[in-house]
Amino acid sequence: MKEFEKNIRRVKPYVPGEQPQNKAVKLNTNENPYPPAPGVRTALKSMDTDRLRLYPDPAAGPLVEELARFYHVGTDQVFVGVGSDDVLSMCFLTFFNSKKPVFFPDITYSFYKVWAELYRIPYECQRVDENFRLVKEDYYRENGGVIFPNPNAPTALYEELNVVEDIIAHNQDVIVIVDEAYIDFAGRSALELIDKYDNLIVVQTFSKARSMAGMRIGYAISNPGLIRYLNDAKYSFNSYTLNQTSLICGVEAVKDKEYFEEGLRKIINTREWAKGELGKLGFRFTDSRANFIFATHPDYDAKDLFEAMKAKGIYVRYWGSERIEQYMRITVGTREEMEILFTFLREYMNKGEPYD
Ligand SMILES: *Cc1c(COP(=O)(O)O)cnc(C)c1O
Repeated sequence: MKEFEKNIRRVKPYVPGEQPQNKAVKLNTNENPYPPAPGVRTALKSMDTDRLRLYPDPAAGPLVEELARFYHVGTDQVFVGVGSDDVLSMCFLTFFNSKKPVFFPDITYSFYKVWAELYRIPYECQRVDENFRLVKEDYYRENGGVIFPNPNAPTALYEELNVVEDIIAHNQDVIVIVDEAYIDFAGRSALELIDKYDNLIVVQTFSKARSMAGMRIGYAISNPGLIRYLNDAKYSFNSYTLNQTSLICGVEAVKDKEYFEEGLRKIINTREWAKGELGKLGFRFTDSRANFIFATHPDYDAKDLFEAMKAKGIYVRYWGSERIEQYMRITVGTREEMEILFTFLREYMNKGEPYD
């Protein structure tokens, strides 16, 4: 080993889902199958490209204002970043500095472990129960902070607001982050609790419900005190996180509430129909409240199924990790994309017409 190797910060990186460049039925990274709001296209077409010679607004003013308006909070209660991954990473850096371990579920978004290791934050995973539910009592012990997604990923399970509140209430000496990447497909948001608990941060994204994964926009909403700490950390790291194009498009996406809600309805309808179809094929799955379904089949090996689908250009997500070896995560696509998936599955299980 070279001498300098000893002082290199080495990390085991997060592995994102594949982005196949060929034509594929892409149900593997929970993207939205519908385009962003029409205003985004119009804004991009009429964009003043001369403006790109200048740095963007470091405070992301117009986008922060639009989000504050949408969520009925002050502009000093909103922090934006380059996708919620950037926002969450900034939260880890800013708020998780205890010698005590940060708590998160054992089956959850795998990025949490990566950031904890990157920033040398001690952590302890709390086992979800046999039905993949959070066990709230496990979060009552002393810790250095708490983070969990609601709905959880990849289990798709939504915890009712009273469960979320119970965890926040039992952890008022540390920061609790609720990662609500999928909340719009689910139910009540922890945003209702931000005035009640000064240790709460809610993080959301434009990547799923707002159809803008490619634009990279995420945000945190909390009280002005915690948002100030986040901004101080951001300005010590990279002042110009959101580029000019993202700022303009982000505003347009938030403005069009009607389009947003229509898109949610379509995905939720397709999800509920897809649950029925999966059930007919003998799959078992959790009660998904997100834009993906976490499914297993008692008679078919998940890895074999995953490989067979991939060979046909149908991409879903499979990890093969502990406790979820037999599960795959299927993003809810358009009705047409899901039909392709089901036609393939019926053939694979010798229950239907040949798939080609
Ligand atoms: C998708 C996802 C994110 C990150 O989304 P961004 O594209 O970075 O905004 C964060 N948390 C969870 C649980 C997710 O599934």
